[in-house]
Amino acid sequence: MKERVINQEPKWVDTHCHLQLTDYDLANLNYESIEYLILPGVDANSSKQAKEISMQLPVPAYWAAGLHPHDAKNLSSQKEELSRLIGEADLIGETGLDYYRDHSTREQQHENLIFHLEMAKDLQKPLIVHCRDSFKDTFDLLSNYEGEFPVILHSWTGGNNWTKKFIELGVYFSFSGILTYETAKDLKLSVKKIPINRLLLETDTPYLAPGKYKGQNNKPEFIVETAKQLAMLKDMTLEDLSSITIENTNTILGK
Ligand SMILES: [Zn+2]
Repeated sequence: MKERVINQEPKWVDTHCHLQLTDYDLANLNYESIEYLILPGVDANSSKQAKEISMQLPVPAYWAAGLHPHDAKNLSSQKEELSRLIGEADLIGETGLDYYRDHSTREQQHENLIFHLEMAKDLQKPLIVHCRDSFKDTFDLLSNYEGEFPVILHSWTGGNNWTKKFIELGVYFSFSGILTYETAKDLKLSVKKIPINRLLLETDTPYLAPGKYKGQNNKPEFIVETAKQLAMLKDMTLEDLSSITIENTNTILGK
């Protein structure tokens, strides 16, 4: 661990930040509290943009290539390009299952997730998984690859029972602004069960702004609000949460 300047504010890794889906002036965002960023793709084109942007930012950034469950129906037409991009990327994703919106059929979503799981296994790269109202099927598919590569459950929203099951699977849980919402009562309880070496933070920029900024487009600097909430729930100082979440992300990236 690098030594820090005394009195410096704690820093955060935003593990899920779609800067390529915003029209922000990226050179001039406030990155003071950011250690580094991870930019996931949602399809071939946005994965390519994530790669390009990651090289131009004033802070270190990693990128991921993948196809979102909403667009799983486009897998066959994008497979070749996605495979090439996934070969180059630091991580794979985001992908997963979304039974809330069902923009692609469940069969298409399964096929898409399995494609990414196989790539993660072959290439030994971390996988970023979106899981909305699809806990059982996500669990069953991930179980087939238990321990083979790091898995990040992005914007985790599971209650106690699913959280417990996924803890046993050895995955990482990334928390978004949803954790700050009044309504996230079950989520707040489930957080207490998660070992600290499995915790991550994210914004999901430009979505899911923390309660304090609700209605606004999210941005990396807003991660501090989610960090404060997580630190409170885990009864940790911000400094300790900062250290452990940076360490966890470094482990995932093999840094
Ligand atoms: Zn996302």
